[in-house]
Amino acid sequence: MIPLLDLKAQYAGIRQEIDAAVLGVLASGQYVLGEEVAAFEREFAAYCGTRYAVAVNTGTSALHLALLALGVGPGDEVVTVPFTFVATAAAICYTGARPVFVDVEPATLTMDARQLDAAITERTRAIVPVHLYGQMADMDAIMDVARRHDIPVVEDACQAHGAEYKGRRAGSIGAAGCFSFYPGKNLGACGEGGLAVANDPELADRMRMLRDWGQEQRYQHAMKGFNYRMDGIQGAILRVKLAHLEDWTEARRAHARRYTALLSGSPTVKVPREEAGRRHVYHIYAVRSPDREGLRRALAAEGIQTGLHYPIPVHLQKAHADLGHRAGDFSVSEAAAREVLSLPIYPEMTAAQVERVAAMAEMEAYVG
Ligand SMILES: *Cc1c(COP(=O)(O)O)cnc(C)c1O
Repeated sequence: MIPLLDLKAQYAGIRQEIDAAVLGVLASGQYVLGEEVAAFEREFAAYCGTRYAVAVNTGTSALHLALLALGVGPGDEVVTVPFTFVATAAAICYTGARPVFVDVEPATLTMDARQLDAAITERTRAIVPVHLYGQMADMDAIMDVARRHDIPVVEDACQAHGAEYKGRRAGSIGAAGCFSFYPGKNLGACGEGGLAVANDPELADRMRMLRDWGQEQRYQHAMKGFNYRMDGIQGAILRVKLAHLEDWTEARRAHARRYTALLSGSPTVKVPREEAGRRHVYHIYAVRSPDREGLRRALAAEGIQTGLHYPIPVHLQKAHADLGHRAGDFSVSEAAAREVLSLPIYPEMTAAQVERVAAMAEMEAYVG
């Protein structure tokens, strides 16, 4: 059996470090925020190449706070993509703003900057590109449009810890960058976690206040805030794991290179591509197949788990029916939703396992 990811294998490799970190927090009494979380914020900001980091309880909260801190609210519009996890759109809706979609590029499945101008109105208050699967969107093209319209960009980097675009890390190019530490992400807590990075001190301050009931000082509430604080235990665990992240990312990249080398001759299975000048961190290795269900069944029969990221684009989700979209509105996203299949990828996977998955996928591609 080859799982899509293996969280227990990761824990087994660093068990002593994690256990010591958790016990340290238990003994310290700092169970919410505290020194471990503050240290993690400094270390993660340095990792991203930003001045500030604000740790919160989920990636969704990070997106919500970044948008709120930029002044997004009811009646506003925020431009994003429909081919993403639903949380991107949900965070926009939490502010009272309306998500406005532009389609993704066929090659990268990230925001198609050429469609941005047509989507921007006088109500547009932010642009949220998603660094899907661990590869950054075309940030030069997106930032050009954003600057021309003077609209801030919030990077949804929830799948892209350590990804790069022309040498700059995910989260460091827009006004804010948002990360998730959900256990299955490239950097995962042992529970929920999230964080927003920024370079503007006032933006970082507003996010810091909003995550803790809008407090300027204790019991002085300058804004209507939230309880979005990170746990001390998660901060300590994330510090331990951050020290391993580059090794884990290189292991993911090696697995991806092997998959791509083994599968790129296949007649039907299309492999993902790393764009020039970008560092893909392969949170997900998604191939495309016209017979996705057949491929999924064949791999399942061999004990190989696969995933669907994502089978229904956000504009066709019942939850967002109020936006009034229908099938055909974003054809690139809809085609991707029909064809993508995520193969197992995680740092602890062996080369032999990668080869076995690739061989089985390749065989199915030929025999159908
Ligand atoms: C995981 C994820 C989120 C939400 O993060 P949570 O920590 O689960 O709230 C948002 N956007 C994308 C693209 C994600 O993959």
